Amino acid sequence: MEVTFLGTGTSQGIPVIGCDCKICQSKNIKDKRLRSSIYIKYNNTNIIIDTGPDFRQQALKEKIKNLDFILYTHAHKDHTGGIDDIRSFNFFLKKKIPIYGNKKTMNQIINDYSYIFKKNNYKALPKLSINYINNEFKTNGILIKPIKVKHNKLDVLGYRINNFTYITDANFISNNEKKKIVGSEVLVINCLQKDKHVSHFNLDEALSIIKELKVKKTYLTHISHNLGLHRETSKILPKNVKMAYDCLKISI
Ligand SMILES: [Zn+2]
Ligand SMILES: [Zn+2]
Ligand SMILES: [Zn+2]
Repeated sequence: MEVTFLGTGTSQGIPVIGCDCKICQSKNIKDKRLRSSIYIKYNNTNIIIDTGPDFRQQALKEKIKNLDFILYTHAHKDHTGGIDDIRSFNFFLKKKIPIYGNKKTMNQIINDYSYIFKKNNYKALPKLSINYINNEFKTNGILIKPIKVKHNKLDVLGYRINNFTYITDANFISNNEKKKIVGSEVLVINCLQKDKHVSHFNLDEALSIIKELKVKKTYLTHISHNLGLHRETSKILPKNVKMAYDCLKISI
């Protein structure tokens, strides 16, 4: 399995518009973060998790030419805002793209982007097939295990595929759902900032979950400028925890 981080930033991205802080002004490309999304290549299948507002430039940058399906974690705009650009894949792959998410996420997408799902023959619209998921399922011969987490009051899905687990936009994981992560070789988990936050894990909370789950290697994502410079914050992390950065590729 090869995982590419298309984006590792929180909803505003880094730099934040109008911000003069040293993180937003940093020249290090590891401090520039588009909105969070990943691209997974596994068993000849190409999967994207979330299509935020930067999806177009992320797909161009990584020269993504194949896409079999999309998994959505939840329907906040920083995770769905690029949905319109899936149509480029419809055009050149000449197929509908299946999208998956829990009921609330899918219904929110249908509502927010209603023009896509209305019955009409306008050819330039994205062609997506909606799939509601609740429990684990198999598609393209791949077993996908959703992990139910909380983003303040909102139900969000993390995903485990083989020994890789991706969790974003969470600030609570129940013991039952934690069991589904145990045994992963690589975990990606959201870590917004050092201070406590109402809907995201902060650094202390993310590190305590990582310790509890005993995952071999973890990457932090959905990072805000309040987590500090990549170079400085990386130094205070345990050996098995890294800050992800845009365009990072890992093999599992
Ligand atoms: Zn988000
Ligand atoms: Zn800033
Ligand atoms: Zn969110």
